[in-house]
Amino acid sequence: MKTIGYAAHSSDAHMVPYHFERRDLRANDVAIEILYSGVCHSDLHTVNGDWGPQPYPLVPGHEIVGRVLEVGADVKHYKTGDTVAVGCMVDSCHDCDQCHNHEEQYCRNGLTPTYGAPDRIDGTTTQGGYSKHIIVREEFVLSVSDKLDLSKTAPILCAGITTYSPLRTWNVGKGSRVGVIGLGGLGHMAVKLAVAMGAEVTVISRSTSKENAAKAIGATGILASTDEKAMEQAIASFDFILDTVPVKHDVTPYLPLLDVDGSLVIVGQIGPLEEPMTMPLVFGRRRVAGSLIGGIKETQEVLDFCAEHNVHPECKMIRPDEINDAFAHLEKGDIAYRFVMDMSELSVSE
Ligand SMILES: [Zn+2]
Ligand SMILES: [Zn+2]
Repeated sequence: MKTIGYAAHSSDAHMVPYHFERRDLRANDVAIEILYSGVCHSDLHTVNGDWGPQPYPLVPGHEIVGRVLEVGADVKHYKTGDTVAVGCMVDSCHDCDQCHNHEEQYCRNGLTPTYGAPDRIDGTTTQGGYSKHIIVREEFVLSVSDKLDLSKTAPILCAGITTYSPLRTWNVGKGSRVGVIGLGGLGHMAVKLAVAMGAEVTVISRSTSKENAAKAIGATGILASTDEKAMEQAIASFDFILDTVPVKHDVTPYLPLLDVDGSLVIVGQIGPLEEPMTMPLVFGRRRVAGSLIGGIKETQEVLDFCAEHNVHPECKMIRPDEINDAFAHLEKGDIAYRFVMDMSELSVSE
């Protein structure tokens, strides 16, 4: 299948239109016309080569919403015209304990990311959602409820599941006292999801400048990490803290904020942290942990949860040819929330 997308041809991350072929439909494949594609900070990191060398040309994008064009002979759950989604993975081994346990993100043999990885069958490089079409095996296709606003659904596939999975794993629910560090793409979804689960949510940020934005999405307010008195008063006041900061930082100032047995879970930064001080961990049985996206079953669960609770990411719609601008904003960190590309603006004949 001929398609078009936006690709980086080198680590300068400059995105240009790129004509390429999607594989022929296998018996268990679903062919999808992409309607919306979210722009995740990790797309920029990946095309920049920040996380290692990449197989250029590379089409990023792992927050994908679209419509089924065609299905392979053995596909059971989808038919032409269905509204569907694809997230951060397009395959795994299907054979190990983690895959059997619906945690394909921790597949013992390595998950296959939606872009920039060899396909498990033919070895070609997977290409992501900054494109007009994608072909994905049925098990990694999600269904999208008609209760969701499709133009605001794509970020649920990465920002949504990345924050939902730890909230569920650590049993956040009614009455939980939750802190969310950072109020960007991940952080704002964490706030909305935790509020919908019944938690009392506080945003932890350097200053209170985003207080109104935090309250507008359901947080009770902002705890300013630079306000020593406020930080002192907040000691032992959280059961759970989700740390969405995407750059190297120091977790030590946040640890005393956890109550005994509380956990701080890192979902933003992949790489080194400042050296932590263990005293607040030991004196309070506090924990620091990490979490990676979520399994396919749980990704379906978060889509359904958002439909049921009317949780939608805050999105700024752009055209695909505005992607380089969007990357520049991401680089500067001056954009709150999520860019979503309207892929109907892209045509194969271009
Ligand atoms: Zn992502
Ligand atoms: Zn596996």
